[in-house]
Amino acid sequence: MIVVFGSLNYDFVFAMERLPAAGETRLARTFAGAPGGKGANQAVAAARDGADVHMVGCVGRDVFGDVLIASLQRSGAMCRIERVDQPTGCASVCVDANGENAIAVAPGANLALSADDLAPDLLTAHTTVLLQMEIAPEANWEVLRQAKAAGGRTVLNVAPAGIVPADALELTDVLIVNRIELETLARALGMADAKPRALAADIAQRHALCCIVTLGGHGVLAVDQGQVQVLDAFAVDAIDTVGAGDTFCGVLAAALDRDVGLADALRRATVAAALCCMARGAQPSIPTAGQIDEAMLRDQRLLRTF
Ligand code: ADP
Repeated sequence: MIVVFGSLNYDFVFAMERLPAAGETRLARTFAGAPGGKGANQAVAAARDGADVHMVGCVGRDVFGDVLIASLQRSGAMCRIERVDQPTGCASVCVDANGENAIAVAPGANLALSADDLAPDLLTAHTTVLLQMEIAPEANWEVLRQAKAAGGRTVLNVAPAGIVPADALELTDVLIVNRIELETLARALGMADAKPRALAADIAQRHALCCIVTLGGHGVLAVDQGQVQVLDAFAVDAIDTVGAGDTFCGVLAAALDRDVGLADALRRATVAAALCCMARGAQPSIPTAGQIDEAMLRDQRLLRTF
């Protein structure tokens, strides 16, 4: 079972020729609204890949909250969502012609989420807890403590970039970051500037965890128990990378929850993340298990280990 404890946001997605600079107003080519939020996206990704997913989070008593809950339910996730007297979290997502994005998030109801909202029956030795950084950090650290006390697996995606105290890293089994998030975390931990592989190896060793670094169109690297695994991205014509990182996290957690080995989990998660880049928006472009299975038949990438 996977418990996603995290954010739900309604995304306002603007497709632009190029992203607006500070102080600039630009006309977008198209607009679309879509359910999103890192927590909800990851829950949808894991559920569409067939995992038993429980989403714990907070939304407002508004129509955006209704849409977010309906999207999770349609994907097969169980909703343990509180409705609170704050607006549902919203994000303004601008995507340029190259698929690059710039995002502003108003967390709203997400900040009301606390560890008390997590029913104790969800935390067992067979639970994989999946966390991100769009809620109050203390709530995350408390859930990490409770999840480990119950004997479960913990997966922390440090996105958006933030600082994780050393004692929270001790409670983390799998850490997932992109390159920028890795550099922010490494600086906060007082590490010297170094290449992603060296930083990941250092973090993995210091905190006895598996450190996974997603590298956008360059794929992924992972360091686990002293072994480095490197896998290129699965080649697709990417038009919008929004949701790629979340799809990666959700599908990776789903694979680990099925006790698939790390190498196979990385392969499946990168295929799913690449498929997500082929359509606009976050949740609408997250693939199903069938779509991932079909694409995996065309996967000829070599996983390199060091
Ligand atoms: P985030 O979206 O969190 O910044 P990344 O950009 O690193 O994360 O993307 C997460 C994963 O999505 C990558 O490890 C890769 O597997 C996949 N991905 C991202 N961009 C592309 C792309 N252009 N083509 C194929 N796969 C991609």
